[in-house]
Amino acid sequence: MLALRPNCECCDADLAPDAAGAMICTFECTFCVGCGEGRLGGVCPNCGGGLVARPARPTALLGKFPGSTERVVKGHAACVSTHTP
Ligand SMILES: [Zn+2]
Ligand SMILES: [Zn+2]
Repeated sequence: MLALRPNCECCDADLAPDAAGAMICTFECTFCVGCGEGRLGGVCPNCGGGLVARPARPTALLGKFPGSTERVVKGHAACVSTHTP
């Protein structure tokens, strides 16, 4: 089962577990589409693997199978360089 992390590792944008718009790698490093496709070119900066669209979990199942609440943010070179201080 996917952890469904709640945010983009790059820009910290909120990513709802029951909505499209998140991208993950095989280790479930998680990014928004803007970072995953834009800044990162579809390649995970942590492991070098490809990023694919994360499947949304049906809202009705989130009560029994909730997404992760652990926010992960890292300073990847491709992200940090475009962040304003
Ligand atoms: Zn992002
Ligand atoms: Zn990765």
